[in-house]
Amino acid sequence: MMSKGLLIVVSGPSGCGKGTILAEILKDEKFFYSISATTRNARPGEVDGVNYHFLTKDKFEELIENDGMLEYASYCDNYYGTPRKPVEDMLEQGKHVILEIEVQGAMKIKEKCPEAKFIFILPPSLKELRRRLNKRGTESDDVIEKRLNEATGEIKQAYKYDYALVNGELSIAVDDLLAIIRAEELNLKNSNNIIDEVLENA
Ligand code: 5GP
Repeated sequence: MMSKGLLIVVSGPSGCGKGTILAEILKDEKFFYSISATTRNARPGEVDGVNYHFLTKDKFEELIENDGMLEYASYCDNYYGTPRKPVEDMLEQGKHVILEIEVQGAMKIKEKCPEAKFIFILPPSLKELRRRLNKRGTESDDVIEKRLNEATGEIKQAYKYDYALVNGELSIAVDDLLAIIRAEELNLKNSNNIIDEVLENA
């Protein structure tokens, strides 16, 4: 019997390096990265259908109306949301589904899917976060300020998550994330399959 995959919600302030950590673990095919929809403009190098589904506000609102979003939130003047169907299909196929979403959306998932696991990625400090956002150079100064303001509020909500890890050194952060997921795979609350399999093989 195949068990359902884990629903793993990952949040962290803009610039904390979530994307880099996730890119490492996504090399393993047991994971499925949920591609979000957004109304923000694509950054240079971002590809529609790969990084995000870039939608107009009208199209996004139509999807909300048709119950096509598992969750959505408004963040820095744009909508961001998780298309429902691929998440449900992939969990059913036994894949671990990763949602890289901000805190309001994560809390909506907590209400709807209490079995999901919530992981918060912290920068080593706010000072370092500012440095990383400036270095990325993809946002204007006022957007960076907005994102830094947002970051402090978001970090204060990290207490609501199941786990928090610091992204100081990448390889340590990746190992920490994989350790959390492995522990959840072995958590009997998520699956009794290992025991059942032993008992069935008499
Ligand atoms: P960015 O504009 O930097 O790509 O994303 C801004 C924030 O929106 C990040 O914290 C990111 O995790 C979050 N985000 C991305 N996709 C979704 C989504 O589908 N739902 C929600 N609630 N937040 C999202």
